[in-house]
Formats: sequence, structure tokens, C-alpha cells
Amino acid sequence: MEVIPGIHSVPGTRVSRIYLIEDEELTLVDTGMPWSAERVFKYIESIGRRPDELSRILMTHNHPDHTGSARNISRRSGAQVVAHRRDAAYRGGAYSISYMSRFKPPNVPLPFLRHTPVHRLLVESEVIPVAGGLRVIHTPGHTPGSVCYLLEREGLLFSGDTIFSDHGRVSRSMPFPGSDMTQYRQSLERLADMRFDILCGGHGSPLVGDASKMLRVLLEKKPQLPTWSEFIFKRMPARLLRRKRFSAED
Ligand SMILES: [Zn+2]
Ligand SMILES: [Zn+2]
Repeated sequence: MEVIPGIHSVPGTRVSRIYLIEDEELTLVDTGMPWSAERVFKYIESIGRRPDELSRILMTHNHPDHTGSARNISRRSGAQVVAHRRDAAYRGGAYSISYMSRFKPPNVPLPFLRHTPVHRLLVESEVIPVAGGLRVIHTPGHTPGSVCYLLEREGLLFSGDTIFSDHGRVSRSMPFPGSDMTQYRQSLERLADMRFDILCGGHGSPLVGDASKMLRVLLEKKPQLPTWSEFIFKRMPARLLRRKRFSAED
């Protein structure tokens, strides 16, 4: 499914979104759950491209519903995994990402606990040479190394779990183990000062039109950050009543 020409949301990934940027080379933004690799490769073939044209995998952050298939996709396609240093760990002479590594669990070979090798670390404000330029914006808060990617030509923001869009609205993420809500608030203010019309969040459906304006309005109208109790008692029942597909944060 194309959000706009050349920017695809890989269909059939129910938990979190995987985006594909189609240019001379192919670029992925996030990789979904640990079983998503096959779906990504099939989709690439369905648009007449080849998996070996995939050159980079950009991570928005290190949560397993976004990094789950990165290791597998990278191994099979040769694509480089690219992430922010603050969501990566340095061990054995190389960087890798694993959300669970911050809690230091025993070394269990479960897909969610596996480390994904990182081939290149992002630099704040660098422009990745794809689709006319994709700017890296470090937006710590949801995780220390959360990153948004701004496609400047189109005014399109890939926002991971920093902000979402669903049902034509912009929303914010909930506090999560490892989140820093002071930094999160600052990151939101920074994003609200930018201009982007299209929002491609890590969950929910992409929003086309006035996205940064909607974020500014949200921050003015509801300066308090959302809480889990508000989500469970107000927003979740409303979603279920609307009978739309449930697409919560993590
Ligand atoms: Zn997350
Ligand atoms: Zn998520």
C-alpha cells in the first residue's frame, strides 16, 4: 500500500508498521515483529523489485515490535542496520540493539531477546541520501535513542513511537519502562516546530494532511501527557466501541 508515490506501508503487519522507501535502492523504516521478514520480501517482489535491492534498514528505536525482523532481513538481503547510539549497546567490539539488554536478562535465545547487529550509527541532523534526502531527528523520550526521519521534499515524518496517527488524529505515546517523559516533552515541542503534512507513525494508520499543525493544536489543547489509566478507561473502550482495529502503543 502506497502512502504517497514511492512510500509504502507493508500490508498485513498487524502490530506495528513497516515502511518501504522506493528509490534507486530500497530502504526500510522499522521491521515489525520477529516473523515479518517473509512478508517484507514478498511485498518487495509484488512491486517488481528484488530483496537484494534493499540497502538499509533504519530503526526508529529499539523496541522489539519494531526491530523484531531486522536481523533476519539484514542477513538475507545484505542491508545495513542503522540506529541511534543511545538505543544500541557496545559489546564484543560491535554495536547491537536489544531493548531487553538494558534490563540485563539472562542470555535466552528467544526472538524478542536476541541482539540485532548495528552496522552504522546515526548522526543527529544528518541527511540520508534517499528520496531527495531523509533528515535524522533525534527525539529522545520514548526510548533514549528514539529517532524520527523527515522526508523534507514531501514533508513526511516517520515518527516511530514518538507520535502516532490513527483515525485522522495525532496522538502521543504512553510512559513505558525506560521512557523519560521530560525528554519526551522536549522532543514533542521540537517536532511541533517543524513542518510536515504527512505522518507515518509506528502504529495506527498514516495521516495525510496538516500533521504538524495537528500536533501543535494537540499540545496546546492538552498539555498534559496521556496516562495509562486514561488510555485503559477512556480511549480503549472508545476504540472498541468504534469497532476499528485495535492498534495500541506497544
Ligand atoms: Zn516503542
Ligand atoms: Zn511500538
